[in-house]
Amino acid sequence: MEKICSSVFLEQRSIRDLPHFSKTEPPPVLAKHLTAEEFKKSQAYGRDKARFSIISTLYGQILETAIIYFSGYSWAWSIAGILLAKLGYGSEYEIPQSIIFAAVLGLMSAIPALPLELYQTFVIEERHGFNKTTPLLFFTDLVKGWFVAFAIGAPFLAAFLSIVRWAGDRLAPWLMAFLFVFQMLMIFIYPNWIQPLFNKLSPLPEGNLRSKIETLASGLQFPLKHLYEIDGSKRSSHSNAYFFGLPWSKHIVIFDTLIKQSSPEEVEAVLAHELGHWYYMHPTKLLLVSQINIFSILAVFPPFLRSPPLLESFNFPYKVAAKPPILISFILFQMILSPTEAVIGMIMNAISRKFEWEADAFACELQDKVPGQAGVETMGERLGQALITIHVKNLSTVWVDWLYSAVHHSHPTLTERLKALDEFKLKKSKAIKKEL
Ligand SMILES: [Zn+2]
Repeated sequence: MEKICSSVFLEQRSIRDLPHFSKTEPPPVLAKHLTAEEFKKSQAYGRDKARFSIISTLYGQILETAIIYFSGYSWAWSIAGILLAKLGYGSEYEIPQSIIFAAVLGLMSAIPALPLELYQTFVIEERHGFNKTTPLLFFTDLVKGWFVAFAIGAPFLAAFLSIVRWAGDRLAPWLMAFLFVFQMLMIFIYPNWIQPLFNKLSPLPEGNLRSKIETLASGLQFPLKHLYEIDGSKRSSHSNAYFFGLPWSKHIVIFDTLIKQSSPEEVEAVLAHELGHWYYMHPTKLLLVSQINIFSILAVFPPFLRSPPLLESFNFPYKVAAKPPILISFILFQMILSPTEAVIGMIMNAISRKFEWEADAFACELQDKVPGQAGVETMGERLGQALITIHVKNLSTVWVDWLYSAVHHSHPTLTERLKALDEFKLKKSKAIKKEL
């Protein structure tokens, strides 16, 4: 019930946002950057996405409620038991049964979600000119995704359950340590083994853009190991850039779509913003905040472990609940937590938006840190232009409800960012004049 309330709360924000898509004029600050045609297209795309989001959230909610109402969890648990028995093992093997159960449950939610994913890719994205995925690519991605989820999920789950079983009520610090090690491992595993299954990363060719980024990175002493271009255009014409890696060895990845859509100066400004995240250690800070969040969740978990009333209230039959499986207790415990997760999500978004402001300001102040780089006027201008280009090419929404934005967005809106860039330039030029 609480979960339904929280998703109704989140979705009524989307409904509240809908009238924005009927507006016929862009916000004044964007008026000169968007043609009437582009604005119309972005409104139509935004409207389609918002409607889809409302319908798919409700659909997901109905599905989840149906699974609970019709005792889907205990059914999946029995199916896992039957499959395990066929392999010659009894119900005392809780960990293998939990892994099979998780796979059954995964399919139970993934298969009904398929029509929605197909509709999103081949109808909505296609209609607005973004889809580059072929049906064959869609299905190979799907199968690869399931394969990767199982290959990583199964050993992860086995370790997770073993730790809970071994540590009992003292599980929080041990699970924390395990999750931290797992996250660190993924930093290594994902780019080396998983991402190549889906995308091709090739070194960014020598030239103007490459040398600009290398100069920028070395000026900031950013430990740049590899500079890649990724074939994002294989699936979609949406654009992006990001960095990843361990503290002493970082990789920058730029989408081929971004390179195609923007000038080298604009891509450089986007990278200046990205390196701002690194300079202020934003990923590390976010990791820290999420560790605190994980710890507080784990710390309250023990009382829910092996709690028959909890299982009964979720239609889990008592005879099975007599020895409740750890995984099921954990899943139900997480469901109870979901309203708090909505609040935590909003707090995380607020932190992330603050970091975005800081990274924008960093790009503007780049000249102070790397002599020879463009000053605030030029860099602010380029970043603003780059953001507008990305926004226009991606047909991102231009009118956003503030409350909707607070709930859903990890980035400030384009209007807010452009306004802040202008204010920043003004403040900086006043300060320079004062110095003179
Ligand atoms: Zn950013």
